[in-house]
Amino acid sequence: MKFKQVFVLFIVIILVGSFFACTKRIQESSRMKKLKVITTLFPLYDMAKNIGADKADVSLLLPPGVEAHSFEPKPSDIVKINEADVFVYTGKFMEPWAEDVIKGAANKNLIVVDASRGTKMIPGVFHDADEPAGSLDPHIWLDFDNAKIMVKNILQVYHLKDGANKDFYEQKAENYSNKLTELDSSFKTTLAMCKNKTIVYGGHYAFGYLAKRYGLKYLAAQGVSPDSEPTANDLIKLVEQIKKDKIRYVFYEELTSPKIAETIAGETKTKMLLLNAAHNLSRDQFEQGLSFFDILKKDLENMRVGLECK
Ligand SMILES: [Zn+2]
Repeated sequence: MKFKQVFVLFIVIILVGSFFACTKRIQESSRMKKLKVITTLFPLYDMAKNIGADKADVSLLLPPGVEAHSFEPKPSDIVKINEADVFVYTGKFMEPWAEDVIKGAANKNLIVVDASRGTKMIPGVFHDADEPAGSLDPHIWLDFDNAKIMVKNILQVYHLKDGANKDFYEQKAENYSNKLTELDSSFKTTLAMCKNKTIVYGGHYAFGYLAKRYGLKYLAAQGVSPDSEPTANDLIKLVEQIKKDKIRYVFYEELTSPKIAETIAGETKTKMLLLNAAHNLSRDQFEQGLSFFDILKKDLENMRVGLECK
């Protein structure tokens, strides 16, 4: 090979090498530019992850398996929120700690999304002693029209932070809302054909929205937080109702001990079924990559059995 040819080859190698190095740098910088989104509860995480897709780095503040109502952020969580571009929370009734964290945030570019903005909230049927007066039921994601409003609230912030990809986010949000519409119609169809119209829940008052939406009666052993203890009188009333209506199944909740449901089931010789309000996932469910829709579809299956629907 002549000197000239060797020289040209050498230049080509350098050019190709620098092209790949450059491409790699572009890829890295676009990875680094991903929007950093922190969400508090699982439904918000699922929404934000699906809308942001590969353009956002979405994380869930609640560690897997942790019960949502008793969660308090650690100093390291507050650091995480401060380092994010976007912080999405459910609202002041679900995360009463959020207000102080937001006020104290040193990151002035942080955009905060109160996902409950514009949703139709209902009062809890009964309240826990330590709750402030006027508190509303925080489980807004269990009314699928509210869930669509939450999706819109999250979409808005993606538009604001990354307007160049507006259409991309719009499409993803629309897909998610369409899936909510489908889920809503399965609930409507199935729950319209049940022999029994009462959900007896050996857990906290989480399904008020869902029961209201589909014309069911909802009796929970506890108030809107799983910390509240049911009184003996509360339990006696539930047992009497089960016997009166010849109810065959009692529902229990996720991520807490099912001991209340077990007591009721033992007393009434009824069977137990899970009704998961989707506040958070267990570690196993998280690793399996379960979606909000997976959880709610399983709930509907259990309700079909428990409420004896056709
Ligand atoms: Zn709850």
